[in-house]
Parts: sequence; C-alpha cells; structure tokens
Amino acid sequence: MSATITFLGGADTVTGSKYLVEHKRQRLLVDCGLFQGYKQLRLRNWAPLPTVPGQIDAVLLTHAHLDHSGYIPLLVKEGFKGRVHATPGTLDLCKILLPDSGHIQEEDAAFANRHGFSKHAPALPLYTKQDALESLPQFQAEHLGVWFEPIRGWKARFQSAGHILGAASLLLEVAGRRVLFSGDLGRPDDVLMNPPEPPPQADTVLVESTYGNRQHPQDKLFSELGPLLHKLAKRGGVAVVPVFAVGRAQAVLHTIAQLKAAGELPRGLPIFLDSPMAIHTTALFEKHMGEHRLSLAEVHAMDSVATMLETPDQSKSLATRHGPMVILAASGMATGGRVLHHLAQYVGDHRNMVILTGFQAPGTRGASLASGQSHIRIHGQDVAVRAEVVQIESASAHADGNQVLSWLHRMPSAPGQVYVVHGEREASDMLRQRIAHEIKWRAVVPEHGAVWPL
Ligand SMILES: [Zn+2]
Repeated sequence: MSATITFLGGADTVTGSKYLVEHKRQRLLVDCGLFQGYKQLRLRNWAPLPTVPGQIDAVLLTHAHLDHSGYIPLLVKEGFKGRVHATPGTLDLCKILLPDSGHIQEEDAAFANRHGFSKHAPALPLYTKQDALESLPQFQAEHLGVWFEPIRGWKARFQSAGHILGAASLLLEVAGRRVLFSGDLGRPDDVLMNPPEPPPQADTVLVESTYGNRQHPQDKLFSELGPLLHKLAKRGGVAVVPVFAVGRAQAVLHTIAQLKAAGELPRGLPIFLDSPMAIHTTALFEKHMGEHRLSLAEVHAMDSVATMLETPDQSKSLATRHGPMVILAASGMATGGRVLHHLAQYVGDHRNMVILTGFQAPGTRGASLASGQSHIRIHGQDVAVRAEVVQIESASAHADGNQVLSWLHRMPSAPGQVYVVHGEREASDMLRQRIAHEIKWRAVVPEHGAVWPL
C-alpha cells in the first residue's frame, strides 16, 4: 500500500500549513500552522482535524512562524503525545513565539468579552499561554543535515532553507518514496540569512509559492528605507512599522544600523522596537552565529540601534512623545499585538507613515492598508487612514517566482510530481504554469483537504 498525503492547510492559502502523511496506519504531520487572515480561514482553526491528534505519531516542523507552528499547542491539548522534531533554531524561536501566541489569544478573547463585540458569549481563546508552555517539552532538536527516525522505518532530514533563523526544507523517506517539502524558501540575496541549500533528488516535491506570481524589485532594503525615513524625519512624523517579530524586525533593524553607520539617516532620529518577542529574537542571533550572514559586530550594532521596549508601561509611554520617530512593533500583518495601539494613534495624521515590510495576507489589516482603504477597524472602532502607507517588497523573506524556479531546477533530475502549495490561488497557479512550461515538470495545485498517493 502506498503512502498518502492530505493537504490540511497551506493549500490555496499562505496560512495554516499542515500536511498529513500516512502509511500503514502510521501518520505524521509536516508543519502544524494556524490559519490567519479572513474569518472563514480563521474558523478552520476551530474545525476538528480528520485524524484525532492522539493518533498522530509525530510532527516535523520546517520553521517557527505561526502559520507553520501555531497549531501545536492545540494539537497537544487535544491529545497529541508524540515528538515535535525541529532544528535548534526553530526550537528556540518556538519557546518565544508559542507562549506569546497563547497570550495574544487570551487577550483578544478577554478584550472581545469586555467590549461585547464577539458574537460568541463568552469568547474563548483557541489555547492559552499555559497550553503553549505545556507543549514545549514534546519538542526535540534535530540538527541540519542529520538523518533521524520520526517513526520506526521512516527517515527524515532537515536542510537550510534561508528564510528565518532555523528555517529548513525537509526530506522525508517513507514506503520507498522520497518527498521533499521546501518549507518557506528564503531569497538568495536576503540581508540576514544564507541562501537556501539546493534541493536533493526526490520523487515528490511540495514547493511554496507565496510570491509565485511576482518578482522582487532589484532595490535593496537599504536604498528603499533610507529616503523614506529621511522624508519622515523632515516633516516631523511618526513611522509605524508593523514587523514580523521573527525575521523582518531584525532585517529592518540591521538596515537602519547600516544606514546610520553610513550617515544616511538623521543622527538623532529615535528608533523604538516595541515587541518583547522581537527583542528576544534579536538576542538569539548571537547564539546562532554561522546560521545567518551577520558578523558579531553587525549583531551588536543591530542590537543597539533601537531603544528596546519590553514592558506595557514602556510601550504606552510612547504615546506621550512627539515625532519624528520610528516605531517597529508586531504583528507584521497588523492582525494583533502592540502595533494596533500605535496604528490607532498615528494612522489618522497625514505627516505620519505606515511602512509595511512583508507579505500581507488577504483579509488582514495589513492588506487593507496596502490596498489603500480609507478606514481600518481596530478593536471594534473604525479609524480613518490619513498617514502615507508604503509597502516595501525588498523586505520580503520569501524567494520570488524566478528564485523558486531556479532553486527547483537545481534538483539533479525531474521529480515525478510537484505540488504547489503555500500561496494564494493566483500565485500558486502562476508558479504551477511556469513549472509546467519552463522546466516541463508535472505540477498541480492541490485543493484544501485533498488526499493524494505519494
Ligand atoms: Zn515563514
């Protein structure tokens, strides 16, 4: 009997990555992410999985971003007893990200209950900070390039994917088949991360397609961000920069440090990093030297370029300051976190600026801002958008269509089947067409919930 794969997430969307691989009544999940964005997507987080968590033997995690890892505390709460295999970098990041995710969900539920705008009474968190903490002992670190056995007779190996600290592609061997999961692929010219390792030979490939229909501009973050912040400082405004606490926050900080060192920014322009998660992640760069491009001096410069705001009181004290200043805060798509308070305060003034630094999934506030909507809804209130909104695509941590194609093309010979995943439908379909026409491999975009033989 051949093995099968079920697409439980990350098919026709960029979020909720979850691929169930089954063979002879044994099963594992590759990635275990939360759905984010539109409500109908978020509702999928509440729907039961087709397999009860107690019958899943292992989870293999490609990286720590919540759209890949954020469902793990719920899986454990609902009876998953196996190991979560991940690289050391991913494990360190999950210790930061998952408890915070539980905390945010508790806060959102409490806020909805206090203000009575939830249709559910009472609104409940998907899981709590405590649930997340209790899931962490099931993690097991696996080093890059070293085979391990997640289930007896199944073999797996991680290799570097660029993207963020700890991020990996995964090669899985089961029932005589080799399946390669690209994970989120970094770009070869990323400011922080090394280029992704070339793909090993496989029979089946799952490849991400976040930017499958786009090419990144040649501009470097350095040359985009510098002039923007100059303009902002001149008019005395405040820049609110929603950042992914892991990855983009550090890329922006590193670039600001470079701009300051090169004399390209007004010396006195205050920079604030208002995200405990991003602060802790920044500190991890020193622990994981060699897994990224930065020298120790660059790590220290990135660390000292901003004033770090850990406590809620420090965060609130920003509201009494006047511009110019730059506030980096999570979350990167403005779906929650401290950045919401700053947006509510600053987005109504035309002197101010919102700088979007990464992919904005449809249905998020970030996507509304990017598409030029005149109002956004924050904490149940409509807020007028008068600030200048800028999206800088050079900050992306994902390979673009050309870069994904040239990564794939480095595989020694054609695989039997490619599944194009982790993209909005248009992006996935464009990449599928390019794979079929330009390198002449068999490629499909699987439907959510589809089951295929491996
Ligand atoms: Zn990611």
